[in-house]
Amino acid sequence: MIFDAIVVGLGAVGSATLYQLSNQTSNVLGIDQFDPPHTLGSTHSDSRITRQAIGEGAYFVPLALRSYEIWQELEQRSGEQLFTVTGGLFVGKEHSTMQTHNKPGWLTTTIQAAEQFGIAHQLLDVATLRQRFPQFRFLDSDVGYFEEMAGFLQPEKCVSVQLAQARQNGAALRINERMLSFETVGEYIRVQTDQAMYRTRKLILTTGSWLTESLRNTPYRDLLKVYRQVQYWFDIQDDYEPYTPGHMPVYILSDRDVYGFPAIGGAGGGIKMATEQYVHSTTPDDVTREVSQTEIKQMYEQYVAPNFVGIGPTCIKSAVCLYTMTPNGDFIIDQHPVYSNVLLASACSGHGFKHSAAVGQILAELALHGQTNFDIRPFQLL
Ligand SMILES: Cc1cc2nc3c(=O)[nH]c(=O)nc-3n(C[C@H](O)[C@H](O)[C@H](O)COP(=O)(O)OP(=O)(O)OC[C@H]3O[C@@H](n4cnc5c(N)ncnc54)[C@H](O)[C@@H]3O)c2cc1C
Repeated sequence: MIFDAIVVGLGAVGSATLYQLSNQTSNVLGIDQFDPPHTLGSTHSDSRITRQAIGEGAYFVPLALRSYEIWQELEQRSGEQLFTVTGGLFVGKEHSTMQTHNKPGWLTTTIQAAEQFGIAHQLLDVATLRQRFPQFRFLDSDVGYFEEMAGFLQPEKCVSVQLAQARQNGAALRINERMLSFETVGEYIRVQTDQAMYRTRKLILTTGSWLTESLRNTPYRDLLKVYRQVQYWFDIQDDYEPYTPGHMPVYILSDRDVYGFPAIGGAGGGIKMATEQYVHSTTPDDVTREVSQTEIKQMYEQYVAPNFVGIGPTCIKSAVCLYTMTPNGDFIIDQHPVYSNVLLASACSGHGFKHSAAVGQILAELALHGQTNFDIRPFQLL
């Protein structure tokens, strides 16, 4: 038997790809070394920000907008809520050149992208920020961009729903099975796992932080860098209600390098927030999964206390997660540099979840039809 396509790696991007493929053919197989959703890659911990005006580059906007449509379609098909609209508050200095996800001038690009694509938003001065969002400590130099349709997605549910839909469409799934190698044999690819051998016309590698393994024997072996990131849930000391969706939006304080979510874990569940680090790179096998008391204290003193009102120093829980960065913070969606019938997508430089549904569609179109109407030139390897 020869599959039309095999997807290796069933996290955010792979589950989306398998779902999209299975809408067109049931002769597809998804393989993962673990049992997704799991906590060892880049797609866990309850929530991911989604927004439409993309400060990482206006060329991402069509991906975000298409993903919004797909999340909605998946909610209707499954009856599960995947997306919560909270509004998104993005704050920094006017014309700031600070980087977010390796992209300088992120807030300015966000505002320009909103204007270019007609995305509903408000620009807020600091007096309005202080009046509308008393949960934050703003600086006199702050300006705010508020996007009405921003919110958060639930990553684990998105993965589960897409895999369940793919299975319902007839796709085969192999979990807890690791791809060891692949090779071209005539017209098809032979994929060797630790349990079996499969044949396929197209192979799609959506292996997240493990993608470096598949680029090892190519000129791109050092292209991707994996960075350990920590997400923290701090204790709400004040009344819980003002920190919940409906009162508090998702937010990025871009000049202060902190982002987060309203509280969704119930009173006592804490409120999730994080910063980013690009100093120490690692690998998914070597990364330290524990979070130290020193890290927690530093996060509180440097990022929480100066920027928030009513959040205490007790860390209720924390989680380690992996960013896989390209040098310029873009994605890779392309053919493998050596094998023309192998496609790959990188784990998307710390901002990929919101786009993953559309990236799945693109990969499925490329695999089955050899083309897509999305402009993927910014995401080419070469
Ligand atoms: C802390 C943190 C916060 C983030 N916040 C946001 C946010 O707010 N908004 C946003 O849009 N994005 C955000 N992102 C980015 C987003 O979550 C990632 O871009 C996305 O989840 C990456 O998904 P992936 O499918 O590429 O990788 P993964 O979900 O890690 O999936 C890769 C899969 O491949 C499997 N695999 C690997 N090798 C093999 C093999 N040899 N054989 C079989 N299976 C294999 C793995 O087991 C894994 O399941 C964040 C990321 C992190 C880490």
